[in-house]
Amino acid sequence: MIRRLCIVGVGLIGGSLARALRAAGVVEEIVGTSRNAAHLQRAEELGVIDRFDTDIAAAAQGADLVFVSVPLGAMRAVFEALKGRLAEDAVLTDAGSAKASVVEDARAVFGEVPACFVPGHPIAGTEQSGVDASFAELYRDRRVILTPLDNTDAQALARVRALWESAGAVVTEMAVEHHDEVLAATSHLPHALAFTLVESLARMSDQREIFEYAAGGFRDFTRIASSDPVMWRDICLANRNALLAMIAHFTGDLAQLAELINEGDGERLLEFFETAKRARDAFAG
Ligand code: NAP
Repeated sequence: MIRRLCIVGVGLIGGSLARALRAAGVVEEIVGTSRNAAHLQRAEELGVIDRFDTDIAAAAQGADLVFVSVPLGAMRAVFEALKGRLAEDAVLTDAGSAKASVVEDARAVFGEVPACFVPGHPIAGTEQSGVDASFAELYRDRRVILTPLDNTDAQALARVRALWESAGAVVTEMAVEHHDEVLAATSHLPHALAFTLVESLARMSDQREIFEYAAGGFRDFTRIASSDPVMWRDICLANRNALLAMIAHFTGDLAQLAELINEGDGERLLEFFETAKRARDAFAG
């Protein structure tokens, strides 16, 4: 049971966790905080939070669990605001999409990563953002990756695991660097490709005609290019090395495809597409 949950950043991710925990009946009070009082007012009207304060330290006062779900570029400022203001028994966790940068932010602010801090990342989301897009079922049967460090308190880790399980998620643990490499491949590269495709086409002189005739394939492939630009700027910068390695790898494969097309090598093109289709069908199945 969580006595008082403080959610820093009541958007899609924070709002959905609040809704899920409330639905599960495992939280007594939820306090929200962010920069904009109108956003928090809306969250209160929706019943996602019980009350709010735009002062982060005031909102976290007396909370036994503090969940930080702001864009990666805002993490350090949030930790600064929380420094020395957390309750003695408080557990601190986050939802940032890259983990090394958040751990580094915590180390920079607190001197060392606090034992009560459990870095985490729900592998769930949509291309929408803000509290209006949040819903209680977002995490049901979805994975959450926790990346505890050597000094992470075992009880804090157990509490965060229980928190996500109450929201319906399946929790796994991973090393920070491994998390960032895996997510660069499975999430960050696909988002970078979707944004690049749309941006590239949008800059073409006959773009009106291109978008007019774009059909289901284009819609499926580019849905995630409607995601929040601030969030994705921050993810690309935070996971720079792993993402650059994936972009280099992918660029090589794209060049290989271009070569096969240029050579008119139908046999190898067919092999290329068959391999991809088998992998995609197995994943979807
Ligand atoms: P979101 O819907 O845009 O919510 C972000 C929230 O952070 C907003 O409520 C915003 O409220 C607040 N915020 C922004 N800057 C702030 C600051 N400097 N200080 C305090 N509050 C601030 O974004 P989200 O999709 O929930 O993403 C939140 C985090 O979860 C990000 O780190 C993201 O990488 C991670 N994540 C996202 C997804 C996804 O698919 N969306 C999936 C997994 C993890 P105000 O405007 O009122 O400040």
